[in-house]
Amino acid sequence: MQDLLSEIAEAASANPDKGKVASYIPELAGIDPDQFGIAIAMADGRVFSAGDADVPFSIQSVSKVFALALALGRVGDEIWQRVGREPSGLSFDSILLLERENGIPRNPFINAGALVTTDTYLSGSSPREALGELLRFVRAAADDDSIHMNEKVAKSEIATGHRNFSLAHYLASHGNMRASVDKVLGTYCHQCAVEMTCRQLALAGRFLVDAPAMPGLVSIERRRRINALMMTCGHYDGSGDFAFRVGMPGKSGVGGGILVISPGRAAIAVWSPGLNRYGNSKLGTEAMELFAHRTGWSVFGVPHPGRGIDV
Ligand code: GLN
Repeated sequence: MQDLLSEIAEAASANPDKGKVASYIPELAGIDPDQFGIAIAMADGRVFSAGDADVPFSIQSVSKVFALALALGRVGDEIWQRVGREPSGLSFDSILLLERENGIPRNPFINAGALVTTDTYLSGSSPREALGELLRFVRAAADDDSIHMNEKVAKSEIATGHRNFSLAHYLASHGNMRASVDKVLGTYCHQCAVEMTCRQLALAGRFLVDAPAMPGLVSIERRRRINALMMTCGHYDGSGDFAFRVGMPGKSGVGGGILVISPGRAAIAVWSPGLNRYGNSKLGTEAMELFAHRTGWSVFGVPHPGRGIDV
């Protein structure tokens, strides 16, 4: 496994086409695209990593996985009256379907849907309390109390987040927002501004792995459902492509991070800031494609004897 990760990191560094760093959040625009990290937290407790796996990055939309877990913890299946479970086929910040579908976002991983999950776990608390709860969840999952939010990134997004404000106002106009738009946006942008290294993110992802020694923060049924949504919606309009190429549930963020789950086996975090045309990490996706090919890991089949690596 260590050799494979090192080989993947080397291939990524040697690739001249690193994709394009997101520039619409000013604080993220200046990040050096020439960075790549990968880490894997195995079901048996071993952790392997390569490249820039200890460099912190902005997890951005990967946080929507933790937000969904918190919202489900708060209201259970009632959440599905306010947000759907279908891929949108549109970009992460699209407003198009909201009008046609009466303010019910397609899924919890596009921005509109994530604003609903944030509003849900925020309900009845102050933003400070809600964010405290989010951090406690992430820290417990990763078993690491040093995980924090980057205030500058959050402020930078709040100052420029006109689209997200529009989405929230649109949801509010349909009665699908309980707290004020300002409170929800403040909480959402801070949630997206959580920083982690690949190593920390892989460890935090263990709660979705479905193996006996993993942190049991959510029930088995919820774990499976979150994984299903990651597979179908975790990469926006690139979700089909990711499922085709990688064959494992994954959630991307515009900071260039991707959390991938191999049920029963491991949580994998990969990071490279340059994005592809869907807004997902370009080298991260390619790295996961190579990883899946070499290990034979896929939720759609089992590794064949003599193919894949023995871990
Ligand atoms: N905070 C970002 C936004 O709302 C998250 C988007 C993403 O990571 N795709 O635009």
